[in-house]
Amino acid sequence: MILLDYIVNLSIFSLLVSVPLILRSFISHKPLKDLHLLGGLYAGIISAILVGISFKEQGYSYDIRYAILILVFSYLGPGAGFITGIIALVSRLVISENWLPAIIGLSLILIAFTVVHRYSRHLKAVRKTAILYGVYCVIYIITVPIIFNVFRDSPIFHLQYILFVGLGVIVGSLLIESYERLIRIITEKKRMEKTLEESESKYRLIAENTSDLIAVMDRDRSLSYLSPSHEFALGCEAAELQNMEVDFVIHPDEAENFQAGIERIFENNERMAMEFRLKHREGHWIEFESRCMPVEGENGVIEHVVMISRDISERKKAEEFLLQSEKLSIVGELAAGVAHEIRNPLTTIKGFLQLYKSGNSQINGLLLSELARIENITTEMLTLGKPQAIQMDTAKLTEIIENTVELLSPQANMNGIQFKLNFADGDFLISCEKNQIKQVFLNIIKNAMEAMEKGGDIEISLKDNNEGECIVSFQDQGCGIPDEFLPRLGEPFYTLKEKGTGLGLMICHKIIKQHHGSIVYQSKIGEGTLIEITLPLLRQTIR
Ligand code: ADP
Ligand code: MG
Repeated sequence: MILLDYIVNLSIFSLLVSVPLILRSFISHKPLKDLHLLGGLYAGIISAILVGISFKEQGYSYDIRYAILILVFSYLGPGAGFITGIIALVSRLVISENWLPAIIGLSLILIAFTVVHRYSRHLKAVRKTAILYGVYCVIYIITVPIIFNVFRDSPIFHLQYILFVGLGVIVGSLLIESYERLIRIITEKKRMEKTLEESESKYRLIAENTSDLIAVMDRDRSLSYLSPSHEFALGCEAAELQNMEVDFVIHPDEAENFQAGIERIFENNERMAMEFRLKHREGHWIEFESRCMPVEGENGVIEHVVMISRDISERKKAEEFLLQSEKLSIVGELAAGVAHEIRNPLTTIKGFLQLYKSGNSQINGLLLSELARIENITTEMLTLGKPQAIQMDTAKLTEIIENTVELLSPQANMNGIQFKLNFADGDFLISCEKNQIKQVFLNIIKNAMEAMEKGGDIEISLKDNNEGECIVSFQDQGCGIPDEFLPRLGEPFYTLKEKGTGLGLMICHKIIKQHHGSIVYQSKIGEGTLIEITLPLLRQTIR
């Protein structure tokens, strides 16, 4: 019968402990610790109910109300513990006799539990519960059978009682722990969702309000995101663009390159910068510079490519303008030399024409070659000065160098400078914008000439580096460049000359970069400077 009473006690106890926990998981998730007064009160009510259904033996009532006291002390602290303890005691006193052992027993337990709580604050609640239960057992054994001589001859009775209280403690702490765990998981999940939401809205805010174009391309090459800025830049709505074929928006000359680039990013997981033109709804083309970043999925495969593109039309225009002004300044400087050069053959022609008049016909050949020279120089000057659409062509590097040298030789002659050309065998075919490459050589040779006030030799050599590239080198005997200035060459407006623009080398760098080449400098003060330009060679040869 006693066993049955205990089991009823235990079941009611578990039910009463779990009901508020379950309810709370629906309502609010305040930590248990913050609810000690309310918790103490509720635990007191449970103990009162437990006392109400306890069984009575010789004026003593038996129930597992102490299990709830142990749990309240370890989970809610002494404040709540005292409230529960007092409610439990009052209800106990109301329903049974033998007040003294009940009052003394509870007082001892409250004192002992408060002391234990003080020294076990750092421990986890489960451990604290175990210690409190141990303390409870000791106090119970000392007070009930030993001091108050209650059922001293029935150790089994006491054992049963202590075990049931223990069972109550175990069931109660299991319920509370699992509830706490659940709450921890839920709060963690909510916190993560919130951070995710916050960061998503932050990034969305950036993506939606930037003037850069942000696009995300998936593995199947479809566009899964296009920022609204596409609408301003291209005049089409993002949704409309999403359904368009890439070939339709991208300039036909660049579509193949673009596709190949994207392919490379997906396959080789490499970042890439690209330049391409996109079609505006009204039909004109806009130049964009785009940085493409691969994004790995869970299994290390590239799932997306994020493309951030920027309208560079204005920048291109400015660069074009710079290029043009530098070209014009060179043309201007050349004019004196050219005029001089034209005047010389003209004098010859004039002289010969006078002779011709007097019947000498052998001079025809000479006349023609002088006229051809005038023609060459003037055409070179004109083509250089005229702005032209950029058009990549196959060209012989040897020819470009020779033409440039021819253009500069009048001025070189005036300054006592000789050109020495030293070309290795071969055609040296490159794909280039002829005029631009010419402009590079012009500026480099002009710099060399300007550095050689006392005249001397400028050696221009051309060789193959056997790695699919050729090296054009310019060695002068000029003043040289101090070591500390070498890294600054190519910076805009960096010049050591009184009337220099400091744009020449910057433009050279830009042009050579566009041609996928590079420039290196070596220099010794007072001895001269060596400038080496590496450019990729074309494989095929002209027949
Ligand atoms: P600019 O010729 O208008 O000064 P550049 O960009 O062409 O501008 O050249 C920048 C500077 O680099 C020059 O002012 C000069 O000091 C230095 N430099 C370039 N080439 C040579 C060279 N071959 N020898 C000595 N100094 C040079
Ligand atoms: Mg210069």
